[in-house]
Amino acid sequence: MNYKTINDLGDLHNKVVMLRADLNVPMDENFNVTNTARIDRTVPTIKELMSKGAKVVVISHFGRPEGKGDMKNSLSHIVSDLEKALGKKVVFVEDCIGEKVEQAVKSMSSDEVLLLENLRFYNEEKKGDETFAKELVKVADFYVSDAFSTAHRAHASMVAAAKELPASMGRLMEEEVKALEGALSNPTRPLIAIVGGSKVSTKLDLLNNLVKKVDKLVISGGMAHTFMKAKGIDTVNEANSLVQMDMLETAKEIMTVAQANNCEIILPEDVVVSKEFKPNAEHKTVSLNNIPAEGWSLLDVGEKTIAAINEKLDECKTLVWNGPLGVFEMKPFDNATNKVAEHAAELTQAGKLMSVAGGGDTVSALENAGVANKFSYISTAGGAFLEWMEGKELPGVAVLKK
Ligand code: AMP
Repeated sequence: MNYKTINDLGDLHNKVVMLRADLNVPMDENFNVTNTARIDRTVPTIKELMSKGAKVVVISHFGRPEGKGDMKNSLSHIVSDLEKALGKKVVFVEDCIGEKVEQAVKSMSSDEVLLLENLRFYNEEKKGDETFAKELVKVADFYVSDAFSTAHRAHASMVAAAKELPASMGRLMEEEVKALEGALSNPTRPLIAIVGGSKVSTKLDLLNNLVKKVDKLVISGGMAHTFMKAKGIDTVNEANSLVQMDMLETAKEIMTVAQANNCEIILPEDVVVSKEFKPNAEHKTVSLNNIPAEGWSLLDVGEKTIAAINEKLDECKTLVWNGPLGVFEMKPFDNATNKVAEHAAELTQAGKLMSVAGGGDTVSALENAGVANKFSYISTAGGAFLEWMEGKELPGVAVLKK
């Protein structure tokens, strides 16, 4: 890897390491953490740093605070969950810079962890302010970042802070970047991408990047309707689908670039149409020339399309997936997403496919399919994952280059 990892930091014994984590966990109205995944996933980094003798000071953003003292966005609410996950005492400091932090760092023991208050209590954080970053890392000898999910933002704690000290990725960010590089930067080919979701307009950068990189591109979900129309399938219209008439030219251009780059585009061959937009509504599978002009909506792709996608998966060694193939939130319109996800999971488990998925609804779609732990890697990073797939350089990752 082209990035600095904890192995590159040298002797950490008795050194203060500032760890930028993403502890922005979901919480209920009584301030109970409802999903501890983000805490649990950064724990190995904290434990490793502690086992190397480092004193670990954890920093993170949390929610969207309206300035300092907005207690509903205080990181103090997660102290007990972090303690439980770590099996160590966590000392909370009610600020992330200044006198209180300096005192707490001076008096900390190497068997406990410091957690500082929400970075976004200071507007300087989002502005990427260098003076604030200097103030932040003043108490530390090293900087480590595990906050891949925030890496598309050039915030002070993500970029300016990393420039102030010897810096590296934590194990979580290292794992995420390795998986994404394996999928898109240095993939074992043939490489296939599945892109679904609602509208072409929200995924233009993604499609434009993918057609230049992948060998096969499956386009499904609502966004496929625009491509189908652009290919001359006139049964698709604004009354029965999510077709974006102002995007037809764009779709054609994307298909032209794909052709120039030897990227095969796989579009639906049959569709599931439904009388109503609700679970278990009356529905039927129709071929493309039998799509009813009105009174029915295209909510999923049919068995012929599923079989075609699965056959393409059999031919490939690497898969990247963003977006559901249909309206997966309502049964039975999760059928195609589930069947293709199950097939990808089987190939992965058999060691035939390296599969990476993420972004937006993809994680819940794959959880719904019951295969979330059977893919090679599922990224929970959302926006950062999408920007990576779009081919953009993430400032919070770039700053950790060797
Ligand atoms: P996105 O956030 O763009 O990845 O879109 C995800 C959303 O696309 C999900 O809520 C799906 O229900 C929706 N979606 C997928 N296929 C269709 C379709 N054929 N018609 C309407 N919505 C769809």
